[in-house]
Amino acid sequence: MLPGMSPVSHGLLSWLVGETLDIGRRGRIAVTTAGLAPDLDGLGAPVEMLSDGALPWFTAYHHAVLHNGLAGVVVSAIAWAWCRDWRVGLLAIAAFHLHLVCDIVGSRGPDGHDWPIPYLLPFHPWEWRWDGQWRLDSWQNLLVTGLALVAITVLAVRRGRSPVELLSPRWDQRVVETLRQRLGRSAGPGR
Ligand SMILES: [Zn+2]
Repeated sequence: MLPGMSPVSHGLLSWLVGETLDIGRRGRIAVTTAGLAPDLDGLGAPVEMLSDGALPWFTAYHHAVLHNGLAGVVVSAIAWAWCRDWRVGLLAIAAFHLHLVCDIVGSRGPDGHDWPIPYLLPFHPWEWRWDGQWRLDSWQNLLVTGLALVAITVLAVRRGRSPVELLSPRWDQRVVETLRQRLGRSAGPGR
């Protein structure tokens, strides 16, 4: 598993960032992808494992290549260009940084390593870290993910969509219908 919150948690939180403005499904796909993008630099993990460390791609690249401000600007520019909507670019950079903040706050490994973020690469080696960092498997991370799921459930009932829309609008409608049937009455007005 990658250091930092799980990609699922990053994805759910990023989708919620995309829900703060009415940017359409394409916009929310762009914003969620931007919020997941930093961890693409962890894809060297299987190579490192399979090569028994001879190719240390994970150690060398994770948190170095895409966990920095410059990568955030590039990713957000791509999101903006794909949707031609400045609000998408803005929310993409917000989701990207929320990912970095979550990594800083809650990714201490079992070995105590705190995975600092070299935010200013490649211009300066300064590392962003926080002394009070939670462990990756802490209750705080679970709580954040739990609260995100509650917010997503409420939005699904009220607005008629959930992160499942990223995969398939049809599956999403089924999820929403099921949630509405079970929770529709208790989730409040605005249906
Ligand atoms: Zn990360």
